[in-house]
Amino acid sequence: METIGRFAPSPSGRMHLGNLLCALLAWLSAKSSGGRILLRIEDLDTVRCKPEHTARLEDDLLWLGLDWDEGGSRGGSCAPYEQSRRSELYQSALDRLTELGVVYPCFCTRAQLHAASAPHREDGLTVYSGTCRDLTPEDQAQKRLTRVPALRLRVPDESITFLDGHMGIVTESLPLDCGDFLLRRSDGLFAYQLAVVVDDAAMGVTEVVRGADLLSSTPRQLLLYRLLDLTPPKFYHFPLLLDASGRRLSKRDGDIGLDALRRRCQPEEVVGTLAYLAGLNPSRQPCTPESLIDTFSWDLVPKEDIRLPADLF
Ligand code: GLU
Repeated sequence: METIGRFAPSPSGRMHLGNLLCALLAWLSAKSSGGRILLRIEDLDTVRCKPEHTARLEDDLLWLGLDWDEGGSRGGSCAPYEQSRRSELYQSALDRLTELGVVYPCFCTRAQLHAASAPHREDGLTVYSGTCRDLTPEDQAQKRLTRVPALRLRVPDESITFLDGHMGIVTESLPLDCGDFLLRRSDGLFAYQLAVVVDDAAMGVTEVVRGADLLSSTPRQLLLYRLLDLTPPKFYHFPLLLDASGRRLSKRDGDIGLDALRRRCQPEEVVGTLAYLAGLNPSRQPCTPESLIDTFSWDLVPKEDIRLPADLF
C-alpha cells in the first residue's frame, strides 16, 4: 500500500521551528518509503486562522524545499483541502455518531467548565466532569430555551492502547485520561478531534506524523475511527522543541519565527540544523530535505524533548 503522509498546519500565525520540524519529518517519513504527501489547511478556527497565513506557510514550505503532491492551493482529488470548507463531511460524521447514541448536548459555560474540572495533566487537558452527561430530555429541552449547547461524545469505560511508530506503546483510560470530549462547540465550530479523523480517512492518509503534544489526542481519535467504522492510519509522534530556557515554542516567539529566519539564513542552513537536532544530520552542516531521504530512519530521531541551543542561527 502506498504511503500517504500529510502536513496539517493551522494558519493561525507564522510557522515556528517546531512546525517546520513537523513538516520535515512528515515529508521524510513519506518520501523515504516512496510515498506521497498532502497539505491540509486546518483552519477550523475562522477567527484565528487567516488566508494570508495560509499563503505564507505555503511559501515558507516551498522555500525550505518541502513541496507536496496534493492539497493547499495545488488542489487535488480530495479537494477542498481547507477544513473551513469541509463542514458537510463533519456534519455527516456527527450524524452517524448521533445515530449510535453516543452524542449528548452540553450546556456548561466556560466558567462552569473551568470551575468543575481541574487541569488533569501537564499538557493542560481537562477532563470533563460529566455535568450534562445524564440530563433528562426534559432538562435538555428546558436548557435549550436559554442556551445553544455544545455536543460531546460519551466515552465508553475502557482503555485504548496503540503502538506509536516512534514512541512505542501508549495506553490511556478514556474516562480517566480523556473524559467526554467535544465534537462541536456551542458556536457551531466542529472540534479538531472530529475533523482530523474525518479528513485523514477521507484523504486516504496512511501515516500521521506530528508533535508529541498530540499524543494524548490519539486515543480519542482512535475511538472515533472505530465508531465511524474507518481505518486508522499509523501514528508517529516526535518530541517537542523547547527554547533555550526549556519552554515550548509558540507562534508568538518572533525571533525563531520564519520571518526572522528567512532574513538571516539560507533554507539549507535551517534544514541542516533541524535535521541535526532531530538526529538526521551528523552536524549542523547545511543540506536539502532531498539529501536526507535515503538515510532517514525513525530510529535516529530522539524520544525526549529537544532543547534548542542558545546560539541557534
Ligand atoms: N493542525 C494541528 C496543528 O497545527 C495539527 C494536527 C495534526 O497533525 O493532527 O497543531
